[in-house]
Amino acid sequence: MKKRIAILGAGPSGLAQLRAFQSAKAKGEDIPEIVCFEKQDNWGGLWNYTWRTGVDQYGEPVHGSMYRYLWSNGPKEGLEFADYSFEEHFGKQIASYPPRAVLFDYIEGRVQKAGVRDWIRFETTVRHVEKKGDKFHVTVCHLPEDHEYTEEFDHVICATGHFSTPNVPEFKGFDKFQGRILHAHDFRDAVEFKDQDLLIIGTSYSAEDIGSQCWKYGCKSVTVSHRTAPMGYDWPDNWQEVPLLTHVEGKTAHFKDGTKKDVDAIILCTGYQHHFPFMEDALRLRTANRLATADLYKGVAWVHDPALFYLGMQDQWFTFNMFDAQAWWVRDAIMGKIAIPSKAEMEADVADRVAREDAGEDDYDAIWYQGDYVKELIAETDYPSFDVEGACKAFKEWKGHKKAGIMTFRNNSYKSVITGTMAPKHHTPWKDALDDSLEVYLQN
Ligand SMILES: Cc1cc2nc3c(=O)[nH]c(=O)nc-3n(C[C@H](O)[C@H](O)[C@H](O)COP(=O)(O)OP(=O)(O)OC[C@H]3O[C@@H](n4cnc5c(N)ncnc54)[C@H](O)[C@@H]3O)c2cc1C
Repeated sequence: MKKRIAILGAGPSGLAQLRAFQSAKAKGEDIPEIVCFEKQDNWGGLWNYTWRTGVDQYGEPVHGSMYRYLWSNGPKEGLEFADYSFEEHFGKQIASYPPRAVLFDYIEGRVQKAGVRDWIRFETTVRHVEKKGDKFHVTVCHLPEDHEYTEEFDHVICATGHFSTPNVPEFKGFDKFQGRILHAHDFRDAVEFKDQDLLIIGTSYSAEDIGSQCWKYGCKSVTVSHRTAPMGYDWPDNWQEVPLLTHVEGKTAHFKDGTKKDVDAIILCTGYQHHFPFMEDALRLRTANRLATADLYKGVAWVHDPALFYLGMQDQWFTFNMFDAQAWWVRDAIMGKIAIPSKAEMEADVADRVAREDAGEDDYDAIWYQGDYVKELIAETDYPSFDVEGACKAFKEWKGHKKAGIMTFRNNSYKSVITGTMAPKHHTPWKDALDDSLEVYLQN
């Protein structure tokens, strides 16, 4: 009997796992039976844009947190697949900060080429996973028919992402605020906030990017409230950074330093929760959003039962190529090419990763830490090795470009660490490029 593997989610992480197994199959290896469950009607995860917010047509929580006009927030040279370059996909080198639609096209191109779509059961949400004896019992629902069923698997690989369930704080006066309050998860279109005074809570990528989008599409002002420290970029004149919000009265937001500001809308860029309601207690990952996740040996294998794996659960500098490194490693662990050590050794591995992360002092240490992790995993599999150091350097340059100009950093170009080709300069500066369609982006 072949082993049966359940992959939960067909976002970039789940697709990396499909591609990893397919590449072994293409080399003539006898791979297990693979079933991927995806609740949306298409692949791509967060990159599969939806206008919906709240619940979907089946009453399921909407997964999407991406918005119109979203461009890559880091250089594409940091995320390029080692086995499928941008040049292979587009037939030419393209500029360094592609909009969402362009990256979706790239993600899709690789898995279309691999021919793995048949392994995915779309519109099928995972409702419950539990272990009975040595089998996982995975209960899913095919949403269009509202048909629930359970199948048994030898391994489960959870790749359902962790930027989808919002972390929503409450501030005094929110219940009486005379404007709109939303979390970044529900933000879809910056044009909605044209001519408005916006208050953004938080200093995450979402705060930086949603504020920038709204500025680009004509909001009146942006006020960003921080808990610990301001982001500190050289913002445009109609931006300000203020200390934490204390309360709201009518339309007036009050801050810890005694200052206040009248605002039309409040956007909570307050992060996301790792949320796996479908996992039985004993299998559920509980971790902070950090580089060294809790309870995952090598960042992927569940230390309490290493027949279960989680992909992409780290906070992310590296994304697509890190998911690949993880997926190839998980494939080889499942196929018996990589040995899983004792529980004590796995726990020591986790503790060591946590200690090394905690010893880091700044973002640069964090980038190299995650780069080293990617290298470590790649060294143990046949994933094509690439210049990880070069990708770290691109991230370093990117941070410098952001310091030099937060509204201009996306006009810069970097060298591919896969093909060695320098990206061209984009035809239009980011702030003037209002049409983010694939067709317009790819024009020469
Ligand atoms: C606003 C935003 C902007 C970002 N921008 C960038 C960027 O510019 N560059 C970058 O590299 N990264 C960016 N990211 C990071 C992003 O996390 C990764 O790029 C990537 O999407 C993570 O892939 P994933 O497959 O792990 O998770 P996801 O993309 O979240 O995919 C998870 C999949 O699991 C499915 N799923 C969830 N629950 C269930 C269930 N119960 N049953 C079945 N299926 C389920 C979902 O429908 C989804 O398809 C951004 C994230 C956000 C939120």
